[in-house]
Amino acid sequence: MYRQLLIVIVITAIATMLAMGAVEHWRRMGTSGGAPQPSAPGLARPNVVLIVLDALRADRLDAMRNSEPVMPKLARYARENVRFTNAVTACTWTRPSVASILTSLYMDTHQVCYGADLRHQIKGNDDILSKDCETLATFLKKAGYLTTAVQTNANCVQALGFAEGFDQYEFKGNVTADVVTDCALQQLTRIAAPFFMYLHYIDPHIPYEPPESYRNLFGFPPAISPEELAIVTNFLDYFWDHIDHILGYKPHRTFPELSQEAKEAVQTLYDGESRFLDDELARFLATLQRKQPNTIVVILADHGEHFWEHGCLGHGLTEYREEMDVPLILSGPGLIPKNIGALAETVDIVPTIAALLHLKANPRWQGIDLFTRPNDQPAFSATRGCWPSTRIELEAILLGSLKLILDKTTDQAELYDLATDPHEKHNLAAARGTDLDKLKALLAQHRQANIKARLATPSPADTKTQLDPALLDQLKSLGYVK
Ligand SMILES: [Zn+2]
Repeated sequence: MYRQLLIVIVITAIATMLAMGAVEHWRRMGTSGGAPQPSAPGLARPNVVLIVLDALRADRLDAMRNSEPVMPKLARYARENVRFTNAVTACTWTRPSVASILTSLYMDTHQVCYGADLRHQIKGNDDILSKDCETLATFLKKAGYLTTAVQTNANCVQALGFAEGFDQYEFKGNVTADVVTDCALQQLTRIAAPFFMYLHYIDPHIPYEPPESYRNLFGFPPAISPEELAIVTNFLDYFWDHIDHILGYKPHRTFPELSQEAKEAVQTLYDGESRFLDDELARFLATLQRKQPNTIVVILADHGEHFWEHGCLGHGLTEYREEMDVPLILSGPGLIPKNIGALAETVDIVPTIAALLHLKANPRWQGIDLFTRPNDQPAFSATRGCWPSTRIELEAILLGSLKLILDKTTDQAELYDLATDPHEKHNLAAARGTDLDKLKALLAQHRQANIKARLATPSPADTKTQLDPALLDQLKSLGYVK
């Protein structure tokens, strides 16, 4: 009896020591700045969950509307984990942005730039993510992970190359957050660890139509005229009228300028969608934490959204902060909660996950492990609009608090100091020539680096397709195709 008791005590002690060693191992990654440590023998490799919140502005995390936080649960999750407060997207619309998140390549390297331009009857022009660009799914699959996804944006379907590397890629076009969470929870019951799961929630994306019980949360309907209320309720028509005008497709707008109250009303609907997303995301995370605590979770947006700032609506057409800044939250076993204010890029996600898993980095990756990223590293973004006929070609670079947006079609430069001008209202390009020249030179180097990095990719002619009519209908409802 005594001997059996002794054996139990010894086994328990060994198990406890091993467990403590595992905890200490992951904790070290948090306290040492995240520099990869040698893998602890016998330590179970964490699962990875990547969650993209389509078109969620970075400022919604701390936003208040009618004295209420818009996303209280995600804000709390951010406080309890690692939050990057200065993260930017590689491109300001979905298809190139998600390609960059999944491949750690900039847009000019993976060359996913455009969707079909049906407005000008240019079909068969949908850029495909080349198989040559290894995705996070392929990378983790090679490392022994089961890979699965729930995708809701028609810009990221199998036909466009986004399902590469996934064992299961469930596409559910434009479904609401409750459906994504249900689907993800079902997948959780079936999948064995270690697994990689990619979830794409689309709720904050236009059209701004929260579920009925969330519609009135933030003061809708507002005290505006019936005519304005009708416009707000059917906002996609106003949206297209506005976009067509600023892109020069229409010399005059059909709709009148909305009152400030009506513009606020549009945003209360967006915030209602964000709150619904907040609740559904929390439902998924609570179950994940309970059933699979050994999981690294990355939550971010693919881009933000304009609400009349700089005269713009939607996304993909500018490189201003409303579109370029994204929320970014990282959690994982042993990671110490903190806010990190240094620049972070969405191309850094894959290298960061690889470093946390102690997997060897792919030398083609253009991002860097966020926990070893130098403070003086610039951040880059670019957009060419969503279709070739927009004739938009913008490049942006951030260095410290300085930001340059370069219009490649006109060579016009906008230079801002975000420390003193967070809303990008005072163009310093003429006043600060030395800073302008420095950032332009860094952008030129970045351009050259992209050219060098894409040498191995197939020619763009081999990477275009024509989507079927059902998918084009979904893109239409999202405001990508008129
Ligand atoms: Zn998007």
